[in-house]
Order: sequence, then C-alpha cells, then structure tokens
Amino acid sequence: MDIKKIRNDFPILSSTVYGKPLIYLDNAATTQKPKCVVEEIENIYYTTNANVHRGVHYLSQRATDLAEESRVTVQQYINAKHSREIIFTKGTTESINLVAHSFCQQFCTAGDEIIISAMEHHANIVSWQLQEAIRGIKLRVIPINEKGELKLDEMKKLISPKTRLISITHISNVLGTINPIEEIIEIAHSRHIPVLIDAAQSVQHIAIDVQQLDCDFLVFSGHKLYGPNGVGALYGKEKWLNRMPPYQGGGEMISTVSFKGTKFNELPFKFEAGTPDYPAVIALAAAIKYIKNIGLDSIKAYEDELLKYCTDELLKIEGIRIFGTSDKKSSVISFLVGNIHHYDMGMLLDKMGIAVRTGHHCAQPLMEELGIEGTVRASVAFYNTKEEIDQFISGVKRVVSMFR
Ligand code: PLP
Repeated sequence: MDIKKIRNDFPILSSTVYGKPLIYLDNAATTQKPKCVVEEIENIYYTTNANVHRGVHYLSQRATDLAEESRVTVQQYINAKHSREIIFTKGTTESINLVAHSFCQQFCTAGDEIIISAMEHHANIVSWQLQEAIRGIKLRVIPINEKGELKLDEMKKLISPKTRLISITHISNVLGTINPIEEIIEIAHSRHIPVLIDAAQSVQHIAIDVQQLDCDFLVFSGHKLYGPNGVGALYGKEKWLNRMPPYQGGGEMISTVSFKGTKFNELPFKFEAGTPDYPAVIALAAAIKYIKNIGLDSIKAYEDELLKYCTDELLKIEGIRIFGTSDKKSSVISFLVGNIHHYDMGMLLDKMGIAVRTGHHCAQPLMEELGIEGTVRASVAFYNTKEEIDQFISGVKRVVSMFR
C-alpha cells in the first residue's frame, strides 16, 4: 500500500491542531473521509438533487437509480444474496433498534430470552432493554475471560428453549477482540436460533461474506467505513425480514393507504419509511469502492502490523495495563498507565496533536466487569503510519513522566 498516496486522499490528515501535526488515532469512533466521498456528496447536491422513488422527472429517477446502485454495492460488499435484503438506516444503532423492535414484536412474548455479551456497545444492550420493558423479554449475558474473550461454554449453558435470538458484536470496540462468530452462528443454528452480528467495528477491517457466515442479521455504520455520517445498513435474511412488521410508518414503506387499512410495501422499502438521506446512501457506495480498490486483505495486514507494533511499544512502559489481550484482535488498544486518569492522558495527548478516545466507550457494563471507570483507547486505520505510532508512544511517555 502506498500510504503517502493514500494520505493525500484525506486532506484532514495534513492539518494541524494547536500548531502540531494531527495524529488521528480515534478511528473506532469515526473514520476520516476520502475526497471521493466528500466530492460525491457535493456532486449529488449540485447535479442530481431530487427525492428518490417519488418523481417521474429526470432528476428523481437519476437519484433513485444511484441510490439503488448503492444498495447493490453494499449487497456485493458483504455478499448478500439479494439487494432487497439490504435496508438503509441511519447506522448501527438504528439497525439494531429496528431488529429489536420488529423481531420482538413478531417472535417474542414475555419470558422469552435474547442473548448478548458482556462486551457489547450500549446500542446492543439498551435496544433490547427497551424490549424488556415493553414486552417482558429477558436479557442473558455471555461472560468474558481475563483476556477479554467470550466464554463460549457459558454461552452454551445460557441457551434455553426460551432463547429467541443471539445478538453479538463481531469486534469489541473496547477490547479489540475478534469474536468467533462462525462458531457462535453454528452453535446457535444447531438450536434453530437466529444470530445478529454487530459489524460496526469489523466491516472496515475484515472481508465479510454473510452467505458464508450464514448470519441472520448484520448491521454497520457508514461513518466508521470511511463513508458519510447518518447512513448505515441492516442486512437481514429475506425469510426473517418478510415476516417482521415495519418499524416505522410513513411514506415509502406503503403500497396503499386508506383509512380502512394500509398495505405495506415490499422489501426493502417496508423498512425505509420517509425520505432517506440519499446523498449519504450514494456516497457510502463511493467509500466502499474506495476501500475495495485498496483491498481489505492489504488493509488488514497493514493494520495488524500497526497494532502489533503499537502494542509492543506500549508494553515497554512501566505500569501499563492493556485491556483485551486476545491473540485475535483488530485495530483497537485500550489501556491505562498506573494511576493516571484516562481523561488526563487524553487531554494531554490532545495538546500534542494526538487524538485518542477516553472514557467508557459506550460500554459501561464492560467497564464495571473490568472494575474500571474508563480507558484510553487508540484505534488505527490504514492511513496511519509507524511514525505516528512512534509520536503517540513518545506522547504517552511524556505524560507518564509528567505524573512521576
Ligand atoms: N456497536 C459497536 C461495536 C460500536 O463500536 C458502535 C459505535 O462505536 C456502535 C455499535 C454504534 O454505532 P453508531 O453510533 O454509528 O450507530
């Protein structure tokens, strides 16, 4: 990979903060956007702005065609069988809420159980807790071991005749653990239980084939995939989506409306009420094409190299604790040094131009499990360099020396 050339595609990476060159290591929160994505949004507004699926006029049809081409781009990116199995949403959070609401409405009654894990993002906890309150379902939680890996034996024990769905993250946004989703899906399916994969932290790092995985649902956000904010996707097997009721009512999701009753539209539109952010939908395809052009295999190999280098260098610092030490990790390092508060570390690094995330990372139950309030989290992307990691490490060392 020609990193120098790649970095030129991301103008923000050449900017300075407080007079220092920006070192952006908060990629798990959101990724920076290549020029082709920003230009695509501008291009759509300047040349093709019209509401999709509504008009007979040229612009509306052109916008509709581009948005539907984008659906096919997403379908191909994750190798879904049909483009109608791709629902555009605002992102991972909305996708999980859609499934939680609609799946539970159709398939769950009081006392039924949903299995999640101790390392889930709040999006994959609270969405189900809302259903606990509404429908009386119960959440069961797979525990983790000291390396930050799921205890699959415990998962097997949690499965019962009341289990309706397993909803699990592919990669933890705190620990970086890559979960054995193939094995989880196999175990679940042997008991006829569907599985939802939260791919918010994986779809930008690892090639995903939903047909090979055989997952029932998979969700992700565009903004973590070098695409625009406010757009994401839900993949769902047709057999589930067809049986699930709509999540929201409005335009687009209907076939006919009368005061005597309404007939819903077919897939995927049944789940896409209202005017979508179609410029974002179209620009998401530009992001996917950009990534495919570099190649996910090259991206993964390079990011793994950066992760290993960064981990090895951090481990040389006295008093460091890294949370998440699985052999199977991706792109994220959470740590604390001695008694230095994560906010202090993050704020002092910021003054050196280094952007990291601090806090609970929307995973408070995991923090509770780890017995901490929060961590400092550095997360790499393919546009980061070894030199940036060196700067980051010397930044951490400087902060440590200030406190000693
Ligand atoms: N799930 C995981 C694993 C995440 O890391 C995130 C965001 O950090 C989300 C869900 C929520 O994503 P979004 O806020 O884009 O909906």
